[in-house]
Amino acid sequence: MIILWRDSWLKPLSDFDIGSENCKYCKEEFAELDFVMSCDFCEIGPMHDRCANRHILTDHANELGAKIKAHKDKPLHGYQ
Ligand SMILES: [Zn+2]
Ligand SMILES: [Zn+2]
Repeated sequence: MIILWRDSWLKPLSDFDIGSENCKYCKEEFAELDFVMSCDFCEIGPMHDRCANRHILTDHANELGAKIKAHKDKPLHGYQ
């Protein structure tokens, strides 16, 4: 099994590295090749990429809103 950690780069991990073969959100086993990430807010994980998105959208809607607000006026690039 190879798990790709959604980070600034795709870090290949084995199920041994992440300590779990199951998604913390949907409890399903990861596929042979899967994208995983942990939550930016409560650090639960690993979760399927799609499950993490769903988790954040449902469980952290307020935090997400605050984060969007805090960052929306920032320029995309430092030099702008
Ligand atoms: Zn899942
Ligand atoms: Zn969370």
